Amino acid sequence: MDKKIKYVIGAAVGAAAASLPVRAAFYREKNEEEAPLPPESVDTDRYRKNLSDAIRIRTIASKDPAKMEWAPFDEFHAFLRESYPLLHEKLTLTEVTRGSLMFRWTGKDASLDPIALLSHQDVVPISAGTWDDWTNPPFDGVDDGEFIWGRGALDMKNHLIGVCEAVETLLAEGFEPERDVYLCFGHNEEVMSSSDDNGAVCMCKYFAENGIHLDAVLDEGGAILPVNVKGVIDKELAGIGIAEKGYVDVEVSVFAKGGHSSQSPNHTAIGKLADVIKDIENHQFKAKISPMMDALLTKITKNVSYPVRFVTCNYKLLKPVLTKAMSYIPPAASMLRTTTGVTMASGSPQPNVLPQKASVIVNFRTYPGQTADDVVAHLHKVIRNKKVEIRVLPGWKDPSAISPTDSRSFRLIEKICRSMNPKTIVAPYLVMGGTDACHYQDVCENIYRYSPFKVGTSLLLTTHGTNERLPVAAIEDAVAFFKRYIRFVSAADNK
Ligand SMILES: [Zn+2]
Repeated sequence: MDKKIKYVIGAAVGAAAASLPVRAAFYREKNEEEAPLPPESVDTDRYRKNLSDAIRIRTIASKDPAKMEWAPFDEFHAFLRESYPLLHEKLTLTEVTRGSLMFRWTGKDASLDPIALLSHQDVVPISAGTWDDWTNPPFDGVDDGEFIWGRGALDMKNHLIGVCEAVETLLAEGFEPERDVYLCFGHNEEVMSSSDDNGAVCMCKYFAENGIHLDAVLDEGGAILPVNVKGVIDKELAGIGIAEKGYVDVEVSVFAKGGHSSQSPNHTAIGKLADVIKDIENHQFKAKISPMMDALLTKITKNVSYPVRFVTCNYKLLKPVLTKAMSYIPPAASMLRTTTGVTMASGSPQPNVLPQKASVIVNFRTYPGQTADDVVAHLHKVIRNKKVEIRVLPGWKDPSAISPTDSRSFRLIEKICRSMNPKTIVAPYLVMGGTDACHYQDVCENIYRYSPFKVGTSLLLTTHGTNERLPVAAIEDAVAFFKRYIRFVSAADNK
């Protein structure tokens, strides 16, 4: 190498290295100190009793409205009436469809767009054969002082009771909102009901038909996760879901003559299908760091300790390597691309019969911006066998719109979180599962999915699983958050 070039490279590397400490020092999140907010009174004992009681009522919905068992829902409504008398006295209740409850708290200024807080009343059933795995029975609502146990403790009777507690307490304190505040408690979120009685769909229809445009919607989704790596980071991450993925099942089939298995060709329809599956799995959707993911990673990399920022301040340069590394880890990859899951296969009905049709079902979770048509086009491109039949199955859902992070309501959520705990990193993220919130995008642009409960990752994984439970320690801050959220977001000002 030319001496001069060597010198230039050496000088450049030297300069870059010399500037690293300075860059690392400045590479951090610049947050203004949020002044602490006035304290909020929270009746933790009442919350604990009411959540336990709520868990005892087995509000399990059915996809088929004809098979709905209404008794637990009627009981749940009676329980709410008894537990929250002020809420029922001061708010107007509309049962937009059997089982779903919409409460309207009329604000002082009818010219302002209302806000809505969503929760679903239904819970998922207990998987067969797992009842005995529970430390405490799933529908007893056991409160052992540390946790409240049972189905719905995290998804999402904890959230629903939190909202009711906040409203009941604010009413007792004489608070009057400026905007209308709606509480929308659907009854069949978990079964992804596609029938006319889908609670969330009916409520949105009600808003649309009455010309009501919502200023902000808050639903389940993100939580507060402790992020601790000794010497690297000691923060709490409040993930605010600003979008959710779509859902598409596709059946891919290969056809053949069939016949007696004693005269089998080298490759039956199943053998040919195997090649098709390999084509699909070997051509995953492209992973990329979207602006939403970029915002999340930038926030995290700016919040690590100073020595570690020597590396993370190069985040922009490291992005291609990071994308590659993340695409090998399934949970991380799911945040970067449409995922492909080959889940079900079928062939001939009997061992001695050659299949005339062999099919596989592939489940895709689509990334915002990608539709079911994009999935089909991708499959046509990557499958070499052009004789396959590709069919999108009913029940698909496009990804949601992406809510802005510079709206009044997002900024207020950030302000409340950071005032309550300056260690909090508030960051937007993509929700992997579905929520009722996606139905509201016709009547609202500012949809945020956030449950203000501090719950560790391992505990979060008990959602829909065994030993679902809520830490008692998370209650006080959560109810205080809901009170503050209603106070600030229902206000007229644009701060
Ligand atoms: Zn849920």
